[in-house]
Amino acid sequence: MKTDRKEKVVIIGGGISGLSAGIYALLAGFDAEICEKNAIPGGECIGWNRKGYHIDNCIHWLTGTKKGTELYEVWNKVGALSDDIKLAPVDTFYTSTYNGQSITLWADLERTRKEMIALSPEDEAEINKFIEYTEYSKQCVFPAGKPMEMWGIKDYINMGKNMPDFPKVMKEFGKISLEDYAKRFKSPLLQKMICDYLPKEYTAYSFLVSYASIADGNGGIPMGASLRMSIRMADRFKELGGVIRYNCGASEIILEKKHATGVRLEDGTVVPADYIIPTVDTNLLFGKLLPKTYMPKELKAAYNEPSKYPATSGFQIAYAVSEDFDIGETVFIEIEPLTVGKRTFSRMYVKAYGYDPVFVKDGKQVIQTCISQTDEDFDFWKGLSPEEYKKVKEELIEQIRSRIVAAFPRLSSDMLFLDCWTPLTYERYCNAYHGSYMSFVTTPEGKQIRLKGKLKGIDNLYLAGQWTNSPGGLPVAVASGKFSVQRLLKSLHRDINI
Ligand SMILES: Cc1cc2nc3c(=O)[nH]c(=O)nc-3n(C[C@H](O)[C@H](O)[C@H](O)COP(=O)(O)OP(=O)(O)OC[C@H]3O[C@@H](n4cnc5c(N)ncnc54)[C@H](O)[C@@H]3O)c2cc1C
Repeated sequence: MKTDRKEKVVIIGGGISGLSAGIYALLAGFDAEICEKNAIPGGECIGWNRKGYHIDNCIHWLTGTKKGTELYEVWNKVGALSDDIKLAPVDTFYTSTYNGQSITLWADLERTRKEMIALSPEDEAEINKFIEYTEYSKQCVFPAGKPMEMWGIKDYINMGKNMPDFPKVMKEFGKISLEDYAKRFKSPLLQKMICDYLPKEYTAYSFLVSYASIADGNGGIPMGASLRMSIRMADRFKELGGVIRYNCGASEIILEKKHATGVRLEDGTVVPADYIIPTVDTNLLFGKLLPKTYMPKELKAAYNEPSKYPATSGFQIAYAVSEDFDIGETVFIEIEPLTVGKRTFSRMYVKAYGYDPVFVKDGKQVIQTCISQTDEDFDFWKGLSPEEYKKVKEELIEQIRSRIVAAFPRLSSDMLFLDCWTPLTYERYCNAYHGSYMSFVTTPEGKQIRLKGKLKGIDNLYLAGQWTNSPGGLPVAVASGKFSVQRLLKSLHRDINI
């Protein structure tokens, strides 16, 4: 007997990709229910309060803040961005300092060019190339209209038209690591600057594209902090009629032959589903929620070769300092060697959050730093006993404080410790593989992971989440949610324009 019951999509994970999948499923006319293991939405895109201060966990830049791009349209549709949401008044990517000198990557490329040449005239040719290729990289705009396997010849022609110079960037910077690229500069400060922001194993083009999105006004920071953006998306989902179950970790996707019939939660409850969209880390999906045999071969290869497919995380600390500590936004400093996990660092950054009142209280603003951590460092943290873990953190809090004070002596009596967290925090909170908050790093040796969203042997499951497309990040997450619903619609021979 035919009923009027709408078909139901069950989404596992209420991060950016899960919220996006839920919103697009509702817009496509399905019922949608999200099962999220934590008490709040957002996954990695959150923040929390300590001693009355708000600590931000995520957005350093959000690709897709430029109106008119496909990605802006997606962010707008899911409630993350709108005319009402102001962007932070930040006009730099970051500043690097070394030996008493400093250089800033301004949103204004010409200003950066001039200041770089003034700093190091002998690097003029390489600087001009850097600026020229960053300008070209503005053409690399995230395609968020539909999944690439649905592209037709016209889409490819349009892409070619819109990105005439970008192939030059890939040719020149697509197969060289940042570490090797830095060697092209003679100035030690410029060498440091190139490797300061992204892990040095990253391909150089990723850095140019990141800087280009800031320079193009397409990588802003929404005021109000990361958690607020996730809450706006959760609100949009609920307004459209979606249901979010919090504190409801999934433990299994129930399969009957080639069909997924529902999701079993940690407490044994079964949530029946017509379609399932898992958005959690693929490491958890294949092995815990589904048998490992379903893992696509390109993912298997990536997990088996961490040197080609590294995952990165961070050791992070937040302090409150005087509001008038004005260093621009993010400044990298040279430090006395600092060992965190298995590696020793001579650079770190200080990011000041005073640009947004949400991070300011009683005349003090939040500052944060992050020491990048690798797969190997994750093993270090994992191998510690609870007592050792606490002790290492306490030692690092003091060591990092002393390095910040060495760089900024005026902070010596002005630093209130708020919180520190490690790769294990991300593993515990989000089930993140090796504590990684992006997907696999794109290295010159590894291939980009780009999953098509369907699994051999299961006919009603559609993958989403940042791990479906390396190197992950917020744009991948939000687009993957939309793409998963478009793939579902396509399989039903329905219009994919949502
Ligand atoms: C410090 C930091 C800085 C960052 N900076 C930026 C930036 O500037 N720009 C940028 O683009 N990106 C940035 N990112 C990355 C960005 O946050 C992520 O790429 C994005 O949030 C990933 O979204 P997701 O939904 O794919 O995954 P997740 O956020 O991991 O969401 C998965 C969700 O699934 C839930 N879950 C896990 N297991 C289960 C289970 N068994 N059952 C139910 N639910 C489960 C998790 O709790 C989580 O809510 C940053 C991340 C961090 C941590």
